[in-house]
Amino acid sequence: MDTYKDTFSRLHAKRPLEVIVVGAGIGGLCAALGLRQAGHDVVILERVSEIKEIGAGIQMAPNASRIMGRFGLLEKVMDKATVVQKNSLRRYADNVELGTAPLMPAVGEKYHAPLAAIHRGDLQHILLEAVKSTGVTIRTNARVIRVDSTFEAKVQLECGEWICGDVVIGADGIKSDIRRQMAGKKGVQDGCQPTGDAAYRILIPKERMENDDRAMALLNSNIGMRWMGPGGHIMGYPIKKHTVYNMVLLHPEKPGGRIEESWTTKSDKKEMMEFYAQWNDLVRDLLSYVPDGEVVEWTLNSHSPLPSWFENKCVLMGDACHPMLPYVAQGAAQAIEDAGVLTCALSLTDDVKTALAVYERVRKDRAERIQNSASVTRKALHLPDGEQQRKRDAAFKGTGKNPDLWADREFQDFMWGELIQTVGINIDADLIGTDVMKQTVENWDSLVALTAGRHTYKSWILWMCYLLALLVVFALYILY
Ligand SMILES: Cc1cc2nc3c(=O)[nH]c(=O)nc-3n(C[C@H](O)[C@H](O)[C@H](O)COP(=O)(O)OP(=O)(O)OC[C@H]3O[C@@H](n4cnc5c(N)ncnc54)[C@H](O)[C@@H]3O)c2cc1C
Repeated sequence: MDTYKDTFSRLHAKRPLEVIVVGAGIGGLCAALGLRQAGHDVVILERVSEIKEIGAGIQMAPNASRIMGRFGLLEKVMDKATVVQKNSLRRYADNVELGTAPLMPAVGEKYHAPLAAIHRGDLQHILLEAVKSTGVTIRTNARVIRVDSTFEAKVQLECGEWICGDVVIGADGIKSDIRRQMAGKKGVQDGCQPTGDAAYRILIPKERMENDDRAMALLNSNIGMRWMGPGGHIMGYPIKKHTVYNMVLLHPEKPGGRIEESWTTKSDKKEMMEFYAQWNDLVRDLLSYVPDGEVVEWTLNSHSPLPSWFENKCVLMGDACHPMLPYVAQGAAQAIEDAGVLTCALSLTDDVKTALAVYERVRKDRAERIQNSASVTRKALHLPDGEQQRKRDAAFKGTGKNPDLWADREFQDFMWGELIQTVGINIDADLIGTDVMKQTVENWDSLVALTAGRHTYKSWILWMCYLLALLVVFALYILY
């Protein structure tokens, strides 16, 4: 919290819109909050009958905590979160430390916003309470089954009722029905490809670790542990005020046995223990403390990017358009960035389609680059024993590029950075180190011009320079 510094002013809607948000996950709640605070009328439609505390640890990186600050929630978030002081990169077999990635307070001071870990349920609860207090209407038991065929901001619920608004935000998660419908409209296949990996997610309560000093030292620390081994890696850190140890364990998918792409599918503890049987005894001990029946497993797929994230007056956000694999821990953060940019874009113009085009322009390349970073990180973290692994381990200690992109300074600048780049003719190349909300507000006119397919004055100047250079070359050719 001490490191949070921001000068961003709250936005006011040019024209209050009737906004329909589909899904009360992290992204949907955040968008609803930002838009309501800017003066829009917002209704959230959520399919479950009760929004319960489901999930496990989620990382609140500076690019997300900054936006939480702008929505007035950072203090509440930090009150429930664990500040992460460093990540310790470890070898799987003997627990030897291969390197460290210093995090707080250095990262907070650099990016002016903290880095922490929080239980998804706590974050969702904080957002839900804030959304309720600002007067957003929340309808549970309200599963959206379709958007009208022209995507004119109308949705139909399972019960048959149609609801109309000025804009529909599809925040319906990884199995998004709205994405499927939009892909169909655009004539593209809404597909995903298996990565070959799956992930166990476990939560170990303090009571189960109390007799183990080494495990308790981890629980009481503010350190993120990253153990890397052949075909898999593990991320572990404490949550819930050091009362629960959270672990995500990546491993190859079972041959022939695809599990669902779901956050709630239960798995077998024995099978999990078997895969990590050759890993160090601290890891094995930790895994043994998980209560039986409490291992959750989900399959990891890469989803092909859509050609566009919006159609007429309907737009996608969060996992619905860029589901993230858990390598750089940006799933929630990227959905929160979407919420920040949607808040800006839908407030700075009264033209919904312009707003959605600008949102896509600011967000799509950036989110997809982070999505694509997963394959690089996966390869580096899961190397088999041997020469390549030894080279990787040496690189952790060096000053060059970090093979773990999450710990790489340059990639951190890109993911977490708040320095905004001037958006000019090279907008696609200008996405490094960005604060997406500031970028949207401060470059609004250029972004609108770009999305309208017009040239900014800067590009005209560049074209004039090219023309002049050609004329000079031509003149020289004639003369000589
Ligand atoms: C139950 C659950 C547990 C999770 N646990 C973790 C975790 O431990 N660690 C982690 O990193 N990430 C977890 N995630 C994912 C994480 O929340 C997202 O990756 C990220 O926060 C992006 O959020 P999102 O809003 O795009 O999607 P989500 O947070 O997945 O939210 C989507 C919401 O849309 C609702 N919905 C879906 N279809 C419809 C429909 N047709 N009509 C109305 N509502 C609909 C869903 O019920 C859900 O509430 C979990 C997600 C869920 C749903």
